[in-house]
Amino acid sequence: MKYIGAHISAAGGLANAAIRAAEIDATAFALFTKNQRQWRAAPLTAEVIDNFKAACEKYHYQPGQILPHDSYLINLGHPVQEALEKSRDAFLDEMQRCEQLGLTLLNFHPGSHLLQISEDACLARIAESLNIALDKTRGVTAVIENTAGQGSNLGFRFEHLAAIIEGVEDKSRVGVCIDTCHAFAAGYDLRSAETTADVFAEFDRVVGFQYLRGMHLNDAKSQFASRVDRHHSLGEGNIGHDAFRWIMQDNRFDGIPLILETINPDIWAEEIAWLKAQQHQEAAA
Ligand SMILES: [Zn+2]
Ligand SMILES: [Zn+2]
Repeated sequence: MKYIGAHISAAGGLANAAIRAAEIDATAFALFTKNQRQWRAAPLTAEVIDNFKAACEKYHYQPGQILPHDSYLINLGHPVQEALEKSRDAFLDEMQRCEQLGLTLLNFHPGSHLLQISEDACLARIAESLNIALDKTRGVTAVIENTAGQGSNLGFRFEHLAAIIEGVEDKSRVGVCIDTCHAFAAGYDLRSAETTADVFAEFDRVVGFQYLRGMHLNDAKSQFASRVDRHHSLGEGNIGHDAFRWIMQDNRFDGIPLILETINPDIWAEEIAWLKAQQHQEAAA
């Protein structure tokens, strides 16, 4: 069973994300549990939590079909101690919000060295940040997203993801989410079914499918290996349709949220319907 959806706006209340997801026939969704561009948020009230849980139940979304995303401000590998502490506190708050909402996954971008520490030192800091947050929470898995490698962001090589996992003590609560646009921009060729199969064979070798907890399905406006992060609608960018059809026909992507972060929400329902249909298409269709 594949769970297919999009990153949905939670404007007006977290429950609205589930309601809007159901409107576009999504079987998965992503959301921010707070404003992603601010450090602080008011604590979740019992009413917000109850409404969210009720909407998820009404529209049949289990926690494993929901992939919350943390704030863009957080840098768990920050080179400066005071800023690192601020990010660690904010990340713990994000994990605790997921815990309160009964959610089991939290998707985040690994972090940036800001040209002040080595890649290895930054990756070690990120792993230590996860150890701290996992130690203080229960039932929520930290899901590392690969990046396009813009600026000094780490996570653009599968080896970075593996190194962070290596440093995490409780490996049952760490996983990864592969964003196809980010992978393509970072130099993983997804332009044909054959190259896509090669990329995920490499992923399996370096990280392992047992750690895959979600996917972000995005085409790319950015060029191959450009290290530039620009999403596009499926089939309209430099990746094209083949990789997405290949993913939909491979059962290693079953049972995890497959999330569109494509640029035109008006066609999400069509994109979701297209993805669902590919599961049963001939490879040459
Ligand atoms: Zn992301
Ligand atoms: Zn993404």
